[in-house]
Amino acid sequence: MSDKIAYIGIGSNLGDRLGYIQQSVTMLSSFDGIDVLETSGFYETEPYGFKEQNWFVNAIIKIKTTLLPIDLLHACQSVEEKLGRVRGKKWGPRTIDLDILFYDDLVVNSDILTIPHPGMKDRAYCIVPMLELDENFIHPVLKKTMLQIHSELESVDEVFLYGTRPVN
Ligand code: ADP
Ligand code: MG
Repeated sequence: MSDKIAYIGIGSNLGDRLGYIQQSVTMLSSFDGIDVLETSGFYETEPYGFKEQNWFVNAIIKIKTTLLPIDLLHACQSVEEKLGRVRGKKWGPRTIDLDILFYDDLVVNSDILTIPHPGMKDRAYCIVPMLELDENFIHPVLKKTMLQIHSELESVDEVFLYGTRPVN
């Protein structure tokens, strides 16, 4: 299969958040068929949904991959498992969360896989790092660039470059 460009959203809000993110990138890059091309900056974001938990650190990686979407999902899930993620509450605390945000311009809607990732278009922590990686990338469902989506964000969750969050 030919190379595709995909974007993986990474989040952690338990324990050594930066360490988990860095380890997940190293582990993903060790798969045959996954080349990490670029890593966005790290952002601190207020938890979505369920507020009584630590802030997240989020980043996005741009990868080149020969894996099919389902195999890429399995690679992400195996890294999540190795890094000790315990599946609990939806939107609850996790050592690591790896989401396929985009896979080329593919649109997938199945029980186990939705691409583009459905939540990303209204979450600043997904759109802001995408601006760094590819501000002209076109969302294949909305047919809008990341810049356009960003300008229309009604950002409820706050996003700060890591280390710049005001301390309460
Ligand atoms: P969330 O990321 O929404 O907090 P989980 O990480 O627990 O939730 O994922 C729940 C399920 O989401 C997974 O079992 C997976 O099958 C499904 N899923 C659907 N689309 C995607 C995607 N684009 N990337 C990653 N997981 C996805
Ligand atoms: Mg996930």
